[in-house]
Amino acid sequence: MAGNKYPRCARCPTRVCENMGKKASDGPPSLEKAPAFCPMKLMPGVYAEAMTEYDKPEVREFARLASIQEAECYERLPDGLRTRLPRVEELIQFARKCGYKRLGIAHCGGLFKEAGLLTDILENNGFEVVTVQCKTGAVSKESLGLKADEKIAEPEYWETMCNPIAQALIINQAGVDMAIMLGLCIGHDTLFIKYCNVPLTVIAVKDRVFGHNPLAALYLSESYYRRLRNKIE
Ligand code: SF4
Repeated sequence: MAGNKYPRCARCPTRVCENMGKKASDGPPSLEKAPAFCPMKLMPGVYAEAMTEYDKPEVREFARLASIQEAECYERLPDGLRTRLPRVEELIQFARKCGYKRLGIAHCGGLFKEAGLLTDILENNGFEVVTVQCKTGAVSKESLGLKADEKIAEPEYWETMCNPIAQALIINQAGVDMAIMLGLCIGHDTLFIKYCNVPLTVIAVKDRVFGHNPLAALYLSESYYRRLRNKIE
């Protein structure tokens, strides 16, 4: 079956990898109930390869702190587990754990206001904050080969292109400990990730319709946004 030839965790009927509810002393789960498309069956070699990476001290420490931070986002109360930290606080706590002092925000011009708010919050928490918006460089869209009618603006108007490569180079040169992406467009974010060479996280991705919460489209995909589920023949 073609579908068994590549990993498809999102279609998994068992999720045995989670080993949910089992005691630590029971050890890892048996793969007997894992589906044929399970990466643990299809690509068993990657796990040893990954563990070799975690054996590097700086990687191990980063991963350890990330998992501690993950756990601190919950609290165990008598009535069960509750979430307790919005992502902004998670970011602040993690950056502190890592000993970061200077953070760099790469933001969209459309989220100028949000970039200012995030800068206020991070500065108030003791960080030095470098920020650079997507239109930096003031290069026209025509420079990328766009035609006048392929711009957002009316054809006769100047439109500055988004410049995620320059954003990444600036963030790299500014000596930040960690870069934070805020609302970059699809594709522009891909380029930023490709050229950014400092540790990178995302505080928000762009969704012009749903207030930068793209998952809202999924939550509505069985009602108002059912069209998303239409099968293309
Ligand atoms: S790793 Fe295997 S068991 Fe876990 S969700 Fe993916 S397919 Fe299922």
